[in-house]
Amino acid sequence: MENQIYKTVVIGGGAAGVFSAVKCSEYYPPGRVLLLEKSRKLLSKVKISGGGRCNVTHSCFIPAELVKNYPRGSRELRGPFTQFQPQDTIDWFQHRNVELKMESDGRMFPTTDDSQTIIDCLMDAAENVEIQIGQHVDKILSEKEGFSIHLRSGEIVKTESLIIATGSVKAGHELARSLGHTIIPPIPSLFTFNIPESPLEHLSGVSVEEAVVTLPEFKREYKGPLLITHWGFSGPAVLKLSAYCAKELFNCDYQTIMKVDWVPHISEDKLRQKIAERKQNSEKKTVSNDPIVHLPRQLWKALVQQAGIDGILRWNHLSKSQVEKLLTCLKHDPYQISGKTTYKQEFVTCGGVKLSEVNFKTMESKRVPNLYFCGEVLDIDGITGGFNFQAAWTTGWIAGSHAGGW
Ligand SMILES: Cc1cc2nc3c(=O)[nH]c(=O)nc-3n(C[C@H](O)[C@H](O)[C@H](O)COP(=O)(O)OP(=O)(O)OC[C@H]3O[C@@H](n4cnc5c(N)ncnc54)[C@H](O)[C@@H]3O)c2cc1C
Repeated sequence: MENQIYKTVVIGGGAAGVFSAVKCSEYYPPGRVLLLEKSRKLLSKVKISGGGRCNVTHSCFIPAELVKNYPRGSRELRGPFTQFQPQDTIDWFQHRNVELKMESDGRMFPTTDDSQTIIDCLMDAAENVEIQIGQHVDKILSEKEGFSIHLRSGEIVKTESLIIATGSVKAGHELARSLGHTIIPPIPSLFTFNIPESPLEHLSGVSVEEAVVTLPEFKREYKGPLLITHWGFSGPAVLKLSAYCAKELFNCDYQTIMKVDWVPHISEDKLRQKIAERKQNSEKKTVSNDPIVHLPRQLWKALVQQAGIDGILRWNHLSKSQVEKLLTCLKHDPYQISGKTTYKQEFVTCGGVKLSEVNFKTMESKRVPNLYFCGEVLDIDGITGGFNFQAAWTTGWIAGSHAGGW
Protein backbone atom coordinates (compact mmCIF):
# COMPACT_ATOMS: atom_id res chain seq x y z
CA MET A 1 0.00 0.00 0.00
CA GLU A 2 2.74 2.41 0.93
CA ASN A 3 4.70 4.37 -1.66
CA GLN A 4 1.89 4.28 -4.16
CA ILE A 5 -0.73 6.87 -4.95
CA TYR A 6 -4.10 5.26 -5.58
CA LYS A 7 -6.60 6.68 -8.03
CA THR A 8 -9.41 6.11 -5.53
CA VAL A 9 -9.62 4.82 -1.98
CA VAL A 10 -12.95 3.63 -0.61
CA ILE A 11 -13.37 3.57 3.17
CA GLY A 12 -15.90 0.95 4.32
CA GLY A 13 -16.56 -2.54 2.99
CA GLY A 14 -20.36 -2.60 3.25
CA ALA A 15 -22.86 -2.68 0.38
CA ALA A 16 -22.25 0.94 -0.66
CA GLY A 17 -18.45 0.79 -0.35
CA VAL A 18 -18.00 -2.49 -2.26
CA PHE A 19 -20.46 -1.46 -4.99
CA SER A 20 -18.73 1.92 -5.47
CA ALA A 21 -15.28 0.26 -5.54
CA VAL A 22 -16.43 -2.23 -8.18
CA LYS A 23 -17.85 0.54 -10.36
CA CYS A 24 -14.78 2.72 -9.91
CA SER A 25 -12.38 -0.14 -10.74
CA GLU A 26 -13.95 -0.39 -14.22
CA TYR A 27 -12.13 2.81 -15.17
CA TYR A 28 -8.60 1.75 -14.19
CA PRO A 29 -6.12 -1.07 -14.54
CA PRO A 30 -6.21 -3.55 -11.61
CA GLY A 31 -4.86 -2.35 -8.29
CA ARG A 32 -5.52 1.38 -8.67
CA VAL A 33 -8.61 1.32 -6.46
CA LEU A 34 -8.15 0.39 -2.80
CA LEU A 35 -10.90 -0.57 -0.35
CA LEU A 36 -10.19 -0.30 3.38
CA GLU A 37 -12.40 -2.12 5.88
CA LYS A 38 -11.78 -1.90 9.62
CA SER A 39 -13.30 -5.27 10.55
CA ARG A 40 -12.11 -8.69 9.37
CA LYS A 41 -15.20 -9.22 7.18
CA LEU A 42 -16.64 -7.43 4.19
CA LEU A 43 -20.39 -7.10 3.63
CA SER A 44 -21.31 -8.29 7.11
CA LYS A 45 -24.69 -6.52 7.07
CA VAL A 46 -25.52 -8.00 3.67
CA LYS A 47 -24.88 -11.43 5.18
CA ILE A 48 -27.47 -11.02 7.95
CA SER A 49 -29.89 -8.86 5.99
CA GLY A 50 -33.43 -9.93 5.19
CA GLY A 51 -33.21 -12.78 7.72
CA GLY A 52 -30.19 -14.21 5.85
CA ARG A 53 -31.93 -13.93 2.46
CA CYS A 54 -30.93 -10.31 1.62
CA ASN A 55 -33.79 -8.12 0.48
CA VAL A 56 -31.69 -6.62 -2.35
CA THR A 57 -34.19 -4.11 -3.71
CA HIS A 58 -37.89 -3.42 -4.26
CA SER A 59 -39.88 -3.81 -7.45
CA CYS A 60 -40.70 -0.12 -7.81
CA PHE A 61 -39.38 1.30 -11.06
CA ILE A 62 -40.69 4.85 -11.20
CA PRO A 63 -38.28 7.24 -9.44
CA ALA A 64 -41.12 9.56 -8.37
CA GLU A 65 -42.84 6.60 -6.65
CA LEU A 66 -39.63 5.07 -5.32
CA VAL A 67 -38.57 8.20 -3.43
CA LYS A 68 -41.78 8.08 -1.40
CA ASN A 69 -40.19 5.27 0.60
CA TYR A 70 -37.44 7.46 2.02
CA PRO A 71 -38.38 9.55 5.06
CA ARG A 72 -35.04 11.33 4.68
CA GLY A 73 -33.50 11.73 1.25
CA SER A 74 -36.64 11.56 -0.91
CA ARG A 75 -36.00 14.90 -2.64
CA GLU A 76 -32.28 14.31 -3.11
CA LEU A 77 -32.62 10.71 -4.40
CA ARG A 78 -34.98 11.59 -7.24
CA GLY A 79 -32.14 12.51 -9.60
CA PRO A 80 -29.89 9.58 -8.60
CA PHE A 81 -32.76 7.13 -9.23
CA THR A 82 -32.95 8.31 -12.82
CA GLN A 83 -29.30 7.20 -13.12
CA PHE A 84 -29.47 3.87 -11.27
CA GLN A 85 -32.72 2.40 -9.97
CA PRO A 86 -34.12 -1.04 -9.00
CA GLN A 87 -34.29 -2.21 -12.64
CA ASP A 88 -30.58 -1.41 -12.97
CA THR A 89 -29.90 -3.37 -9.78
CA ILE A 90 -31.81 -6.36 -11.19
CA ASP A 91 -29.92 -6.08 -14.50
CA TRP A 92 -26.56 -5.65 -12.75
CA PHE A 93 -26.99 -8.88 -10.81
CA GLN A 94 -28.58 -10.74 -13.73
CA HIS A 95 -25.61 -9.80 -15.92
CA ARG A 96 -23.50 -11.63 -13.32
CA ASN A 97 -25.81 -14.69 -13.31
CA VAL A 98 -27.70 -13.80 -10.15
CA GLU A 99 -31.47 -13.83 -10.62
CA LEU A 100 -33.70 -11.87 -8.28
CA LYS A 101 -37.32 -12.83 -7.59
CA MET A 102 -40.18 -10.70 -6.38
CA GLU A 103 -42.39 -11.53 -3.41
CA SER A 104 -46.06 -10.56 -3.27
CA ASP A 105 -45.30 -7.35 -1.33
CA GLY A 106 -42.71 -6.18 -3.89
CA ARG A 107 -39.56 -7.13 -1.97
CA MET A 108 -36.85 -8.71 -4.12
CA PHE A 109 -34.50 -11.50 -3.04
CA PRO A 110 -31.99 -13.74 -4.82
CA THR A 111 -33.75 -16.86 -6.10
CA THR A 112 -31.39 -18.88 -3.89
CA ASP A 113 -32.91 -17.19 -0.80
CA ASP A 114 -29.33 -16.91 0.45
CA SER A 115 -27.51 -13.63 1.05
CA GLN A 116 -24.19 -15.41 0.38
CA THR A 117 -25.17 -15.41 -3.33
CA ILE A 118 -25.10 -11.62 -3.28
CA ILE A 119 -21.81 -11.53 -1.36
CA ASP A 120 -20.15 -14.00 -3.75
CA CYS A 121 -21.36 -12.00 -6.74
CA LEU A 122 -20.07 -8.70 -5.35
CA MET A 123 -16.72 -10.24 -4.40
CA ASP A 124 -16.27 -11.72 -7.90
CA ALA A 125 -17.08 -8.32 -9.39
CA ALA A 126 -14.46 -6.73 -7.12
CA GLU A 127 -11.59 -8.76 -8.62
CA ASN A 128 -9.74 -5.61 -9.77
CA VAL A 129 -10.10 -3.86 -6.41
CA GLU A 130 -7.26 -4.12 -3.90
CA ILE A 131 -8.96 -5.01 -0.63
CA GLN A 132 -7.42 -4.54 2.81
CA ILE A 133 -9.38 -5.77 5.81
CA GLY A 134 -8.55 -5.02 9.47
CA GLN A 135 -7.57 -1.49 8.45
CA HIS A 136 -9.18 1.19 10.58
CA VAL A 137 -9.01 4.68 9.15
CA ASP A 138 -8.32 7.13 11.97
CA LYS A 139 -7.63 10.38 10.19
CA ILE A 140 -7.89 11.91 6.72
CA LEU A 141 -5.98 14.96 5.57
CA SER A 142 -7.11 16.82 2.49
CA GLU A 143 -4.07 17.93 0.53
CA LYS A 144 -3.38 19.79 -2.68
CA GLU A 145 -3.03 16.64 -4.78
CA GLY A 146 -5.61 14.49 -3.01
CA PHE A 147 -5.82 12.86 0.41
CA SER A 148 -3.55 11.28 3.03
CA ILE A 149 -5.31 8.50 4.90
CA HIS A 150 -3.91 7.63 8.31
CA LEU A 151 -4.53 4.07 9.45
CA ARG A 152 -4.59 2.84 13.05
CA SER A 153 -1.69 0.56 12.11
CA GLY A 154 0.43 3.69 11.61
CA GLU A 155 0.51 3.39 7.82
CA ILE A 156 -0.38 6.35 5.61
CA VAL A 157 -2.10 5.81 2.25
CA LYS A 158 -2.25 8.43 -0.49
CA THR A 159 -5.02 8.80 -3.04
CA GLU A 160 -6.28 11.22 -5.67
CA SER A 161 -9.96 10.74 -4.82
CA LEU A 162 -11.76 9.35 -1.81
CA ILE A 163 -15.12 7.67 -1.21
CA ILE A 164 -16.41 7.56 2.36
CA ALA A 165 -18.86 4.66 2.81
CA THR A 166 -18.57 4.04 6.54
CA GLY A 167 -22.27 3.43 7.25
CA SER A 168 -23.89 4.87 10.33
CA VAL A 169 -20.99 4.51 12.79
CA LYS A 170 -19.86 7.57 14.74
CA ALA A 171 -16.20 7.15 13.76
CA GLY A 172 -17.15 7.49 10.09
CA HIS A 173 -19.17 10.62 10.81
CA GLU A 174 -16.16 12.07 12.60
CA LEU A 175 -14.03 11.54 9.48
CA ALA A 176 -16.57 13.50 7.43
CA ARG A 177 -16.80 16.19 10.10
CA SER A 178 -13.01 16.55 10.18
CA LEU A 179 -13.14 17.36 6.46
CA GLY A 180 -15.64 20.19 7.05
CA HIS A 181 -19.00 18.43 6.79
CA THR A 182 -21.99 18.90 9.06
CA ILE A 183 -23.35 15.76 10.71
CA ILE A 184 -27.06 15.48 11.46
CA PRO A 185 -27.06 13.61 14.81
CA PRO A 186 -27.91 9.94 14.28
CA ILE A 187 -31.10 8.59 15.83
CA PRO A 188 -32.97 5.30 15.36
CA SER A 189 -35.48 4.83 12.57
CA LEU A 190 -37.63 1.79 11.74
CA PHE A 191 -38.74 0.29 15.05
CA THR A 192 -41.86 -1.12 16.67
CA PHE A 193 -43.90 0.46 19.47
CA ASN A 194 -43.92 -0.77 23.07
CA ILE A 195 -47.30 -0.69 24.84
CA PRO A 196 -46.65 -1.82 28.42
CA GLU A 197 -49.57 -3.74 29.90
CA SER A 198 -51.40 -3.66 26.59
CA PRO A 199 -54.92 -5.09 26.90
CA LEU A 200 -54.21 -6.91 23.62
CA GLU A 201 -51.04 -8.65 24.84
CA HIS A 202 -52.78 -12.05 24.86
CA LEU A 203 -53.44 -11.62 21.12
CA SER A 204 -49.75 -11.59 20.20
CA GLY A 205 -49.37 -12.76 16.59
CA VAL A 206 -52.85 -11.59 15.52
CA SER A 207 -52.82 -9.13 12.63
CA VAL A 208 -55.27 -7.11 10.57
CA GLU A 209 -54.68 -6.54 6.88
CA GLU A 210 -55.56 -2.88 6.90
CA ALA A 211 -55.69 -0.50 9.85
CA VAL A 212 -54.91 3.19 10.17
CA VAL A 213 -52.43 4.05 12.89
CA THR A 214 -52.27 7.70 13.95
CA LEU A 215 -49.88 9.66 16.16
CA PRO A 216 -52.18 12.62 16.94
CA GLU A 217 -49.40 14.64 18.62
CA PHE A 218 -47.44 14.68 15.34
CA LYS A 219 -50.45 14.75 13.02
CA ARG A 220 -49.24 11.69 11.10
CA GLU A 221 -51.08 8.54 10.13
CA TYR A 222 -50.39 5.46 8.01
CA LYS A 223 -52.63 2.79 6.61
CA GLY A 224 -51.39 -0.77 6.30
CA PRO A 225 -51.12 -4.16 7.95
CA LEU A 226 -50.91 -4.00 11.75
CA LEU A 227 -49.49 -6.79 13.90
CA ILE A 228 -50.15 -7.25 17.62
CA THR A 229 -47.00 -8.37 19.43
CA HIS A 230 -46.45 -9.42 23.02
CA TRP A 231 -44.72 -6.07 23.65
CA GLY A 232 -47.06 -3.81 21.67
CA PHE A 233 -47.54 -3.22 17.94
CA SER A 234 -45.53 -3.93 14.79
CA GLY A 235 -46.21 -4.33 11.07
CA PRO A 236 -45.82 -1.98 8.09
CA ALA A 237 -48.16 0.75 9.40
CA VAL A 238 -46.13 1.07 12.63
CA LEU A 239 -42.73 0.78 10.91
CA LYS A 240 -43.65 3.54 8.47
CA LEU A 241 -44.78 5.81 11.30
CA SER A 242 -41.58 5.07 13.25
CA ALA A 243 -39.46 6.10 10.27
CA TYR A 244 -41.44 9.20 9.31
CA CYS A 245 -41.75 10.40 12.93
CA ALA A 246 -38.26 9.23 13.98
CA LYS A 247 -37.19 12.68 15.15
CA GLU A 248 -40.45 13.57 16.91
CA LEU A 249 -40.54 10.20 18.68
CA PHE A 250 -36.90 10.55 19.73
CA ASN A 251 -37.61 14.05 21.10
CA CYS A 252 -40.54 12.82 23.23
CA ASP A 253 -38.47 9.85 24.44
CA TYR A 254 -40.91 7.45 22.75
CA GLN A 255 -43.79 8.48 25.03
CA THR A 256 -46.93 9.43 23.15
CA ILE A 257 -50.45 8.28 22.34
CA MET A 258 -51.24 6.25 19.23
CA LYS A 259 -54.73 5.64 17.94
CA VAL A 260 -55.90 2.73 15.83
CA ASP A 261 -58.75 2.72 13.37
CA TRP A 262 -59.32 -1.03 13.07
CA VAL A 263 -61.90 -0.69 10.30
CA PRO A 264 -60.81 2.22 8.06
CA HIS A 265 -63.02 1.01 5.19
CA ILE A 266 -66.22 1.55 7.25
CA SER A 267 -67.27 5.02 8.35
CA GLU A 268 -68.46 5.78 11.85
CA ASP A 269 -71.96 6.53 10.53
CA LYS A 270 -72.12 3.18 8.76
CA LEU A 271 -71.04 1.42 11.98
CA ARG A 272 -73.67 3.30 13.95
CA GLN A 273 -76.27 2.14 11.42
CA LYS A 274 -75.06 -1.47 11.65
CA ILE A 275 -75.32 -1.34 15.45
CA ALA A 276 -78.87 0.07 15.23
CA GLU A 277 -79.84 -2.79 12.89
CA ARG A 278 -78.36 -5.36 15.24
CA LYS A 279 -80.24 -3.86 18.19
CA GLN A 280 -83.45 -4.37 16.29
CA ASN A 281 -82.86 -7.67 14.54
CA SER A 282 -80.41 -9.69 16.63
CA GLU A 283 -81.69 -9.05 20.07
CA LYS A 284 -80.91 -12.60 21.22
CA LYS A 285 -77.25 -12.54 20.22
CA THR A 286 -74.49 -11.28 22.51
CA VAL A 287 -72.35 -8.40 21.23
CA SER A 288 -69.23 -10.40 21.95
CA ASN A 289 -70.28 -13.37 19.77
CA ASP A 290 -71.86 -11.42 16.91
CA PRO A 291 -69.28 -9.16 15.23
CA ILE A 292 -70.50 -6.40 12.92
CA VAL A 293 -67.16 -6.08 11.11
CA HIS A 294 -64.57 -8.43 9.61
CA LEU A 295 -61.90 -8.63 12.30
CA PRO A 296 -60.19 -11.66 13.83
CA ARG A 297 -62.76 -13.03 16.30
CA GLN A 298 -60.52 -12.77 19.37
CA LEU A 299 -59.73 -9.16 18.48
CA TRP A 300 -63.42 -8.29 18.19
CA LYS A 301 -64.03 -9.86 21.61
CA ALA A 302 -61.10 -7.93 23.11
CA LEU A 303 -62.35 -4.63 21.67
CA VAL A 304 -65.85 -5.30 22.99
CA GLN A 305 -64.33 -6.00 26.40
CA GLN A 306 -62.22 -2.83 26.16
CA ALA A 307 -65.44 -0.89 25.55
CA GLY A 308 -66.59 -2.15 28.95
CA ILE A 309 -69.25 -4.43 27.45
CA ASP A 310 -69.88 -7.61 29.38
CA GLY A 311 -69.41 -10.89 27.45
CA ILE A 312 -73.05 -11.90 28.00
CA LEU A 313 -74.62 -8.54 27.10
CA ARG A 314 -77.08 -8.79 24.19
CA TRP A 315 -77.27 -6.26 21.38
CA ASN A 316 -80.71 -5.00 22.43
CA HIS A 317 -79.42 -4.18 25.93
CA LEU A 318 -76.58 -2.02 24.69
CA SER A 319 -76.81 1.49 26.17
CA LYS A 320 -76.10 4.70 24.25
CA SER A 321 -72.84 5.26 26.10
CA GLN A 322 -71.75 1.66 25.39
CA VAL A 323 -72.44 2.21 21.70
CA GLU A 324 -70.20 5.29 21.80
CA LYS A 325 -67.45 3.40 23.65
CA LEU A 326 -67.59 0.55 21.13
CA LEU A 327 -67.31 3.04 18.26
CA THR A 328 -64.30 4.65 19.93
CA CYS A 329 -62.61 1.27 20.34
CA LEU A 330 -63.20 0.45 16.67
CA LYS A 331 -62.32 3.82 15.12
CA HIS A 332 -60.07 5.74 17.58
CA ASP A 333 -58.66 3.05 19.85
CA PRO A 334 -56.02 4.78 22.04
CA TYR A 335 -52.80 3.22 23.37
CA GLN A 336 -49.97 4.78 25.35
CA ILE A 337 -46.64 4.18 23.57
CA SER A 338 -43.82 3.85 26.07
CA GLY A 339 -40.55 2.89 24.43
CA LYS A 340 -39.55 1.08 21.24
CA THR A 341 -38.16 -2.26 20.09
CA THR A 342 -35.77 -2.88 17.20
CA TYR A 343 -37.43 -4.49 14.20
CA LYS A 344 -35.89 -7.94 13.54
CA GLN A 345 -32.39 -6.66 14.54
CA GLU A 346 -32.65 -4.27 11.59
CA PHE A 347 -30.85 -1.31 13.17
CA VAL A 348 -31.49 1.52 10.75
CA THR A 349 -30.52 5.03 11.77
CA CYS A 350 -31.32 8.37 10.29
CA GLY A 351 -28.78 11.15 10.54
CA GLY A 352 -25.36 11.45 8.95
CA VAL A 353 -23.72 13.78 6.45
CA LYS A 354 -25.99 16.73 5.72
CA LEU A 355 -27.51 16.25 2.28
CA SER A 356 -27.32 19.88 1.13
CA GLU A 357 -23.51 19.61 1.31
CA VAL A 358 -23.39 16.87 -1.34
CA ASN A 359 -23.92 17.13 -5.10
CA PHE A 360 -26.37 14.31 -5.88
CA LYS A 361 -25.51 14.30 -9.59
CA THR A 362 -22.05 12.97 -8.70
CA MET A 363 -22.18 12.23 -4.94
CA GLU A 364 -19.20 14.58 -4.61
CA SER A 365 -18.81 16.81 -1.59
CA LYS A 366 -19.62 20.46 -2.24
CA ARG A 367 -16.99 21.33 0.35
CA VAL A 368 -13.99 19.21 -0.62
CA PRO A 369 -13.18 18.41 -4.28
CA ASN A 370 -12.66 14.71 -5.11
CA LEU A 371 -14.35 13.58 -1.91
CA TYR A 372 -17.47 11.40 -2.39
CA PHE A 373 -20.07 9.84 -0.09
CA CYS A 374 -22.39 6.87 -0.50
CA GLY A 375 -24.70 4.67 1.58
CA GLU A 376 -25.83 5.08 5.14
CA VAL A 377 -23.10 7.59 6.07
CA LEU A 378 -25.47 10.10 4.46
CA ASP A 379 -28.60 11.41 6.18
CA ILE A 380 -30.75 9.03 4.11
CA ASP A 381 -32.92 6.18 5.28
CA GLY A 382 -35.59 4.08 3.71
CA ILE A 383 -38.47 2.10 5.14
CA THR A 384 -38.22 -1.68 5.29
CA GLY A 385 -38.54 -3.57 1.98
CA GLY A 386 -35.14 -3.34 0.22
CA PHE A 387 -35.07 0.45 -0.03
CA ASN A 388 -31.97 0.90 2.14
CA PHE A 389 -29.86 -1.38 -0.05
CA GLN A 390 -31.23 0.32 -3.15
CA ALA A 391 -30.01 3.67 -1.80
CA ALA A 392 -26.60 2.05 -1.15
CA TRP A 393 -26.40 0.60 -4.71
CA THR A 394 -27.54 3.85 -6.32
CA THR A 395 -25.31 6.24 -4.40
CA GLY A 396 -22.42 3.74 -4.58
CA TRP A 397 -22.75 3.39 -8.35
CA ILE A 398 -22.78 7.16 -8.87
CA ALA A 399 -19.92 7.84 -6.44
CA GLY A 400 -17.84 5.08 -8.07
CA SER A 401 -18.57 6.37 -11.57
CA HIS A 402 -17.54 9.93 -10.79
CA ALA A 403 -14.60 9.18 -8.52
CA GLY A 404 -13.45 7.03 -11.43
CA GLY A 405 -13.41 10.10 -13.62
CA TRP A 406 -16.56 9.37 -15.63
C1 LIG B 1 -29.97 -6.93 10.61
C2 LIG B 1 -30.14 -5.98 9.45
C3 LIG B 1 -30.88 -6.40 8.37
C4 LIG B 1 -31.07 -5.54 7.28
N1 LIG B 1 -31.77 -6.00 6.23
C5 LIG B 1 -31.94 -5.19 5.16
C6 LIG B 1 -32.58 -5.68 3.98
O1 LIG B 1 -32.92 -6.86 3.88
N2 LIG B 1 -32.76 -4.80 2.94
C7 LIG B 1 -32.33 -3.50 3.01
O2 LIG B 1 -32.53 -2.75 2.04
N3 LIG B 1 -31.68 -3.03 4.09
C8 LIG B 1 -31.46 -3.84 5.15
N4 LIG B 1 -30.79 -3.36 6.23
C9 LIG B 1 -30.16 -2.03 6.15
C10 LIG B 1 -28.86 -2.16 5.29
O3 LIG B 1 -28.12 -3.26 5.78
C11 LIG B 1 -28.01 -0.89 5.37
O4 LIG B 1 -28.79 0.20 4.93
C12 LIG B 1 -26.79 -1.03 4.45
O5 LIG B 1 -26.01 -2.16 4.86
C13 LIG B 1 -25.91 0.22 4.50
O6 LIG B 1 -24.74 -0.06 3.76
P1 LIG B 1 -23.43 0.83 3.94
O7 LIG B 1 -22.41 0.23 3.05
O8 LIG B 1 -23.77 2.25 3.79
O9 LIG B 1 -23.01 0.65 5.48
P2 LIG B 1 -22.50 -0.63 6.25
O10 LIG B 1 -23.07 -1.88 5.69
O11 LIG B 1 -22.72 -0.34 7.69
O12 LIG B 1 -20.93 -0.66 5.94
C14 LIG B 1 -20.03 0.28 6.46
C15 LIG B 1 -18.67 -0.36 6.62
O13 LIG B 1 -17.70 0.62 6.94
C16 LIG B 1 -16.79 0.09 7.86
N5 LIG B 1 -16.14 1.20 8.56
C17 LIG B 1 -16.74 2.12 9.35
N6 LIG B 1 -15.83 3.01 9.81
C18 LIG B 1 -14.63 2.64 9.28
C19 LIG B 1 -13.31 3.17 9.39
N7 LIG B 1 -13.03 4.24 10.14
N8 LIG B 1 -12.30 2.55 8.71
C20 LIG B 1 -12.56 1.45 7.94
N9 LIG B 1 -13.79 0.92 7.81
C21 LIG B 1 -14.81 1.51 8.47
C22 LIG B 1 -17.69 -0.75 8.76
O14 LIG B 1 -16.93 -1.72 9.47
C23 LIG B 1 -18.64 -1.38 7.75
O15 LIG B 1 -18.19 -2.61 7.26
C24 LIG B 1 -30.55 -4.22 7.31
C25 LIG B 1 -29.79 -3.80 8.42
C26 LIG B 1 -29.58 -4.66 9.47
C27 LIG B 1 -28.74 -4.20 10.63
